[in-house]
Amino acid sequence: MTDTAADLMAYIDASPSPYHAVREGARRLAAAGATAVDLADAWGGAGFRFVAVDGALVAWNDEGRSPSAGFRIVGAHTDSPNLRIKPQPDRTAGGFDQLAIEPYGGLLRNSWLDRDLGLSGRAVVRSGRGTEHRLFRDDRPVLRVPQLAIHLDREQNDALRLDPSRHLTPVWGLARAGRSFRGYVADLVGADPDDVLAVDAMCHDTMPASFLGPDEDLISAPRLDDQASCFGAVEAIIAAVGRSDAGDAVPLIVLNDHEEVGSESATGASGPLLGRIIERSVLGRGGGPDEVARALAASMCCSADMAHGLHPNHPERHDPEHRVLVGGGPVIKTNVNQRYATSDRTAAEFRLACERAGVPVQVYAHRNDLPCGSTIGPVTAARLGIATVDVGMPQLSMHSIRELMATVDADRMVAAFTQWLV
Ligand code: ZN
Repeated sequence: MTDTAADLMAYIDASPSPYHAVREGARRLAAAGATAVDLADAWGGAGFRFVAVDGALVAWNDEGRSPSAGFRIVGAHTDSPNLRIKPQPDRTAGGFDQLAIEPYGGLLRNSWLDRDLGLSGRAVVRSGRGTEHRLFRDDRPVLRVPQLAIHLDREQNDALRLDPSRHLTPVWGLARAGRSFRGYVADLVGADPDDVLAVDAMCHDTMPASFLGPDEDLISAPRLDDQASCFGAVEAIIAAVGRSDAGDAVPLIVLNDHEEVGSESATGASGPLLGRIIERSVLGRGGGPDEVARALAASMCCSADMAHGLHPNHPERHDPEHRVLVGGGPVIKTNVNQRYATSDRTAAEFRLACERAGVPVQVYAHRNDLPCGSTIGPVTAARLGIATVDVGMPQLSMHSIRELMATVDADRMVAAFTQWLV
């Protein structure tokens, strides 16, 4: 059990950005025997394959499956709320060099204050007449968003207000002539600054994931939402492909980017990635449009995103009949207004997977008077017409720079997802 939790933390530590989360997922899949394929190439036939494109990763095994076989899908998302560096970020104020940022997603702003921040992302560098992509990361504390001293605003403990256009700008040293963000990235990727054509950079907590508590009951980590589910999906498909009792369904995992900002992008759940890969898989095994439609109709998706466990200090924030416990196992999320895609049919199917895995299962519904969040489940269900269940592992502090889940739930998640895929 602790092995899985430690491996989950290793996955998160390897993944400060969605690009790194995809690279680490791809590394694990390749080590398990999966073949990398490119969307722009021809790849007929069948096999255990994966496609990595920007911040998204899709892996599936259609070896030996009939063309009309349904897909058993686990979906998750690689992105998490954070501070992203603006394209022309260099600025100086009050004797400090600072970097202009743009908040990404619905972050808990206060959690980013007084944290030692590293930087990571991707640089697109000139290469001959074209370009090449280079990932970079700097785990030294290079940035900080400094808090205001209590003596300069006594109200802060009662009403902290953070304006994202002014109060979240990090410092990265004293004002120094000639310092430039582009030059810094050029050094990290080993390129001439003039050859760094574009950069997508973001901040991360430099403190690695760790167990918490004297008995290591908890996992304290950045980006549990939703890299914990990404890890679970990758490990589950590797386990599922190795099983001899797998049925005719095609196991597939899809890790989308841009969930935290609405999923509307080429690599988000609203994009064409999943639908196209399903279509190409069916066609590659000799099927036609009819088989594609039959495969979609026979498919089912488990949309995995983290869930709100009961907060011990704020129990009134939860629906009294649908409190789910951190450490209580996977959670089925329901919302009749379709903020979650779960139906009675798909909920029952996930229950059976948990039963086979021997793990407990909990049910979550949001308090009626609070707006409910959403996830990739409803998007996938609406786009492709695939029956979907929204599930997730319970955690505290969602969208904080550091989140909290139970050690025991890591193993349960992988076991439940594996059973879902086979
Ligand atoms: Zn999420």
